[in-house]
Amino acid sequence: MRAVDIIINKRNKHELTQEEIQFFIDGYTKDEIPDYQASAFAMATLLNGMTNKETTDLTLAMANSGEVLDLSSVVPIAVDKHSTGGVGDKTTLVVEPTVAACGLPVGKMSGRSLGFSGGTLDKLESIPGFKTNLTTDEFISQLKSIGLVLTGQTADLAPADGKFYALRDVTGTVQSIPLIASSVMSKKIAAGAQAIVLDVKIGRGAFMKSLEEGRALAELMVSIAKLAGRKAIALLSDMNQPLGDAVGNSLELKEAVQTLHGDGPEDFFEHCLVVAGHMLAIAGITENDNIGQKVARDAILDGRAWDRFRELVKTQGGDVRYIDDPGLLPKSNLVEDYLSPRSGYLAKIDAQIVGETAVLLGAGRSNKEDSIDHSVGVVVHNKVGDYVNTGDSLFNIHSNQTVLLRQAKLKLAEALEWSEQPVSPLPLFYGVIQ
Ligand code: URA
Repeated sequence: MRAVDIIINKRNKHELTQEEIQFFIDGYTKDEIPDYQASAFAMATLLNGMTNKETTDLTLAMANSGEVLDLSSVVPIAVDKHSTGGVGDKTTLVVEPTVAACGLPVGKMSGRSLGFSGGTLDKLESIPGFKTNLTTDEFISQLKSIGLVLTGQTADLAPADGKFYALRDVTGTVQSIPLIASSVMSKKIAAGAQAIVLDVKIGRGAFMKSLEEGRALAELMVSIAKLAGRKAIALLSDMNQPLGDAVGNSLELKEAVQTLHGDGPEDFFEHCLVVAGHMLAIAGITENDNIGQKVARDAILDGRAWDRFRELVKTQGGDVRYIDDPGLLPKSNLVEDYLSPRSGYLAKIDAQIVGETAVLLGAGRSNKEDSIDHSVGVVVHNKVGDYVNTGDSLFNIHSNQTVLLRQAKLKLAEALEWSEQPVSPLPLFYGVIQ
């Protein structure tokens, strides 16, 4: 078999066999197939697509390119959640301790921020001492001992995806539904997930800009899970405006802490309950997701979810004084209000622009190697549909440089659209793919 023939087959719109896909991924992982051939393969796939069978074969080949965790002797059922990424999405920080408090042990391997979307690991690293590079043995042992782990992905899980994703990033081939689906699902399968709740974000601040695209990605990921013998459900959720109020690492961590105390923004709290409800239902802990939501709400309101989060932080070496008193978390030198230049109904608070503003202030990275400033970001005071008066505070900008603060103000002005007429609020969710 030759790599070039496989590329030609994809270029000519032929369905690739499992053997061809396995050969290509094996060769690429071992550096026997060079980046230029993998780039051509990625581009041919982006242009000509893949069948569900091909995408499943690609997923499994990438999942099996390294270590595949078997958690069956560690937890009764390994349930994972995955968000396709968004702005202000700190859901994992609340949902994981909440479901753990409801009797579902969970270990999750999360990512870092890239582009304008945030990453759970960066948010957690706002806590001094918090360790995000646990080894596989440490991951398993903590999952056994306290039933809750939040760490980074170990290098030996789905290495083919790590290499291929970095290549796609620089060859204009990220935006392919089969490639995104196989990339996400290969990591979940390698991390041992038997059931997965997928939170597919749709809108201005997401990879998938339209409901159609989001639905196609969600359906494909659920179908891959089924073909790979796993359970999955996908939620289609809005990412046109930021989720919750805070965008930026320590600001988001603080908001997650408030939410775990039952005192977070309403949209974010509801979002977390829906995700937690589905996790509890898919695990069979509750009869359905509605009951799951109720159980999750109780676990937050009676303080059990907070206790689990505190235990997680302590176990992973974090200094709990910083979450007991989030006022101790990294703070920027400058905090300024962005005041509304007019009155009217808010028709748009563009999540992508708010996310890009947070990156401009230093909260995210332009390149993987960039360091980030945990203290900076934006707090959004409104939701689409709100009526605001001239001079009301629309945003709180947290910056460490005057020049960046000024630039952030200019950029945030572009995030807003207004209406004289009442505007309907945006839904939190657009649907569920079972
Ligand atoms: N997230 C991933 O893990 N992979 C992709 O291809 C896109 C988003």
